[in-house]
Amino acid sequence: MLKRVITFQDFLSGSPAEDYLFQEEAYDRQIERASAMLQKADYVLIGAGAGLSTAAGAQYGGRFFEENFGEFQEKYGRGPYMQDMYSAGFYPYPDEESFWGYWSKQALLAGIDADHTPLHRTLLEMLQGKKIFVLSTNADKQFEKAGLSEEKIFCTQGDYFHIQCVKGCHPKTYDGVELFRQMDRERKDCKIPSELVPKCPVCGGAMNMNLRVDRHFVEDEAWHAAEERFGEFLSEMLADKTSNVVLLELGVGFNTPTIIRFPFEKLAKEHENISLIRLNLKEAIVPESLGDRAVGINADIKKSIEDMRKV
Ligand SMILES: [Zn+2]
Repeated sequence: MLKRVITFQDFLSGSPAEDYLFQEEAYDRQIERASAMLQKADYVLIGAGAGLSTAAGAQYGGRFFEENFGEFQEKYGRGPYMQDMYSAGFYPYPDEESFWGYWSKQALLAGIDADHTPLHRTLLEMLQGKKIFVLSTNADKQFEKAGLSEEKIFCTQGDYFHIQCVKGCHPKTYDGVELFRQMDRERKDCKIPSELVPKCPVCGGAMNMNLRVDRHFVEDEAWHAAEERFGEFLSEMLADKTSNVVLLELGVGFNTPTIIRFPFEKLAKEHENISLIRLNLKEAIVPESLGDRAVGINADIKKSIEDMRKV
């Protein structure tokens, strides 16, 4: 029997071995290149991750957490959980009253009442006249708040505004905003009154935030409609091989790199009219094989965007 030989090149799946080696280019030159790419662009697909919200001013930990969640730190101890709004979400709350006592507050502070849109506005102004679409893993709806039509946004991981059955027993989500406000008013000792605990209208079980934390995440009608619009944008963007396309990746790390980061690299590798701009505080490295078509800027995203605007 003939043995098929698998080579190192096969193993690398078509990526050259030198990709992702350390790249050195002066910051000013990178800003110039990125700015020129954007100016020429007909289509800009924005990929937004947690680093964008942070750069825009969102706060989750440190003094902000102590000031807003001091009561929770006292009750549950600081431990590994009561450090910031990300970790505290995973605390094993003893009952639903405590669970919603915490989550109603996070939903309000991190999403519903959060307003860190000036950077998002700057960005949208900068891209005026281009065909744009936003693919985002953020749950804070800052692009909507900055005035971009919902039609141009696909938030794949849910948001702080909706709740769902904890088991995802039916494909629907429910507006939680008013409920969260009421919970916030009536919270005592970090807990909400039992009568405010939401129950699934179908199975009668517990409810959860509509955030992709496990395989029970509900992709409802609005989610699928956004997915479809994203598909339409991609189809149009990829149909015209003569157009200039820029993938503008903002603050996407390695929490869910499969949603924006890896597909962006794949698109840029497969299409010569596509460029990639990766802005990230620490993880901006780009595949070297993309050559002049990619620029990765390791810096504060807010500063990079403002500097690109000045060019
Ligand atoms: Zn249910």
